[in-house]
Amino acid sequence: MPYHCIVYRSRSNELLNENDLSTILLQSRYHNSKKGITGVLLCLHGQIIQVLEGDKYELDLLYNRIQQDERHASMTTLINQSVDQRLFSTWSMGYKTLTASQLEEFTVIVNLKNKKATIFSQQAVLDLIQSFFDTNQNP
Ligand code: FAD
Repeated sequence: MPYHCIVYRSRSNELLNENDLSTILLQSRYHNSKKGITGVLLCLHGQIIQVLEGDKYELDLLYNRIQQDERHASMTTLINQSVDQRLFSTWSMGYKTLTASQLEEFTVIVNLKNKKATIFSQQAVLDLIQSFFDTNQNP
């Protein structure tokens, strides 16, 4: 069954502290599991990378909500496409902290120009996110 996948990068308006993040995660896991949405959230010092996977209709609704969330200062959609399988099928919303060097590595792969993302390779972006998630410790 084909799924849809959205990956975006954003900067939060204010540094999200541990309390803010646990509230977001709690709420996300509750709503995402009801809608069959999976994914992960990777953060470092207000920089956010999120992967959302699931039914296209449900993802569009959720992504609309997330885009309107005033906690985001700027947002760039990196991937918005159908995929054959989910990468994070067991996570209603996984969460890991990024390292500074991972964020830099990610920025090299995703070349941000005038807020419009030029993706060198969408698969490379997904592979990198998966490797960060698999390698990093839970915060
Ligand atoms: P509220 O004012 O909180 O609630 C209004 C009504 O909508 C309530 O009845 C509530 O139960 C209902 N509602 C709230 N959320 C949903 C939903 N997703 N689907 C259906 N009904 C809902 N939210 C997620 O759900 N999943 C995520 O993966 C996710 N990731 C986020 C990542 C980041 C970095 C940030 C900052 C926020 C994220 N959020 C996520 C939160 C999201 O942006 C909204 O804050 C959230 O959906 C609540 O929206 P609201 O303020 O309009 O609803």
